[in-house]
Amino acid sequence: MDTIKIEEMTWPMVKKAIEKGYKTVIVPVGSIEQHGPHLPTGTDTFAGDVFGIRVAERLGKALVAPTIRPGCSEHHMDFPGTITISPETLIRVLLDVCEALDRHGFENIILIPTHGGNFAPVITATQIIAPRLKANLIALADLGGLISKMNGAMAEFGVSAEEAGSHSGAAETSLMMAYKPDLVRGEEMTTGYMGPLTSKYVRAGFKAVTPTGVFGDATKASRKAGERIIELVTEMYVENIKRELES
Ligand SMILES: [Zn+2]
Repeated sequence: MDTIKIEEMTWPMVKKAIEKGYKTVIVPVGSIEQHGPHLPTGTDTFAGDVFGIRVAERLGKALVAPTIRPGCSEHHMDFPGTITISPETLIRVLLDVCEALDRHGFENIILIPTHGGNFAPVITATQIIAPRLKANLIALADLGGLISKMNGAMAEFGVSAEEAGSHSGAAETSLMMAYKPDLVRGEEMTTGYMGPLTSKYVRAGFKAVTPTGVFGDATKASRKAGERIIELVTEMYVENIKRELES
């Protein structure tokens, strides 16, 4: 097959793939939200695209559904371009998408949220949806695990966790330099909020903590570190999926 992305395939291609044993489908869950002055609003969606495809390739016999976007981004609404949906809406969309894939005969549906605000709704959705499906529904929704894996990759390049940042810092900027370099505005890269992270950004919104929308130091980013993030996170997801399927 020349593509495993459902949106690029015809229906006979999808039918044949399922018949040939492509029984796992990856569903990334991204966002459309501000990512500082240097990264596009689709950053988390592009992260979903790249992790989805790499995980499916590494896993084998797996297809990738279109990355769901927008996501739950209320805390970014002070910045133009952010489009947010409510957690209730996201849960409804996930329910409908999973039921559609289930009806076509996929046996394993894997949800991969790539935006922090989607993790809690994805976990809630899984509890609601799983009993309604014939397929196994698995959510890879460990935000701490994802951040520590990304920080680990950045540490190999001498970048601290504070610089890596949790939003539009060196880590996400590196990922985008590796996957969508044309969309990274290098001259706009800045050092954002570097202090201790509390939940103020949730209560009061991102702008109350960082006027540029950046947590971390984007200037410490590099394409090589981004490639390492993609490699390590893909590896982690594949291991997690195998462990979940065996349990
Ligand atoms: Zn992001």
